[in-house]
Amino acid sequence: MPEIPGRYHYSAVMMGTRVELQLAAHQPDLARQVFHRIKQMEDLLTVNRPDSALMSVNRAAGSHPVVVPPQVFALLWRAREVSFSGGCFNLAIGPLVRRWKIGFSGDSVPPAADIAELLPLTDPHAIRMDPQAGSVFLTRPGMSVDAGAIAKGYMADQICDFLQEQAVDHALINLGGNIRAISPPGSDGWSVGLQVPFAGPEALLGSIRLSQGSVVTSGVYERYFVHQGIHYHHILDPRSGYPLDNDLLSVTVISPYSIDGEIYSTQLYGMGLEKGCEWLATQTDIEAIFVTRDGHLICPSQRQFRFQTTYSKYPGLSSL
Ligand code: ADP
Ligand code: MG
Repeated sequence: MPEIPGRYHYSAVMMGTRVELQLAAHQPDLARQVFHRIKQMEDLLTVNRPDSALMSVNRAAGSHPVVVPPQVFALLWRAREVSFSGGCFNLAIGPLVRRWKIGFSGDSVPPAADIAELLPLTDPHAIRMDPQAGSVFLTRPGMSVDAGAIAKGYMADQICDFLQEQAVDHALINLGGNIRAISPPGSDGWSVGLQVPFAGPEALLGSIRLSQGSVVTSGVYERYFVHQGIHYHHILDPRSGYPLDNDLLSVTVISPYSIDGEIYSTQLYGMGLEKGCEWLATQTDIEAIFVTRDGHLICPSQRQFRFQTTYSKYPGLSSL
């Protein structure tokens, strides 16, 4: 009997979210190794604990460069390059993220004067990186880097590399909604649900079917708080210092690698629907599905996946 792909599920709660691994065979030792590797990467990249490699960079802001492990350097280098593009993604957004605390206890709307004061500390050009030394220097006191928008995608790619080294040819890793899949060519592949915004994980707009690659969503419904009737979500606009305000509820990026999905879901969210669609038309490997505030679902291309909608099951979204 051929084994049913994806039949074996392993999961753990890590990084404040559920991490799920699906394998085609019963391999609990391999699953343990995967979760161990994720923990090791979290120990390097978290900004929620003082002892990570990233926090050692942040603690030395305005003082001195810090040598980081090569994989952390490579990730920060890429993230810094993207931050220079003038889009929404900004590696140096840390001071604002820490001030808002969105999704953590103590979140509040900061006084406008505080935001104005912190904005100059989010200039990515003030991150100095030395490839020879492998060091990172935040040149102004109070600066901090935040890998919250890319860490899970980076980890998903690293785990898939590891699984492929172990000759696993059918697997899916889901890091709290950041998904990367590997499958043999010609296989039926995987089905990944696209959530109805604000309706919880069970309510789906449809499913994305793909044999390999990554599915990453950035949405205003993932982490947020409501204050005096206003909804404040966790993707900040580096120009204003406030949560990004545009026509979108979520952007889902389908791409070969999850790190790109992470970067471009944030970038596309910042571009908004119209500019986002224009940009996507220039890309071959990056595709996206947009859900708009006025109830539309827009899927400009389907080269790497097939999207099947099931939204009619949810009367609240009948206008989609
Ligand atoms: P999630 O972790 O829920 O999948 P995202 O990948 O969209 O969410 O990343 C959101 C996180 O990224 C925020 O919680 C914060 O740590 C960080 N962040 C917020 N705004 C920006 C931004 N403009 N550029 C880069 N990172 C950001
Ligand atoms: Mg992201």
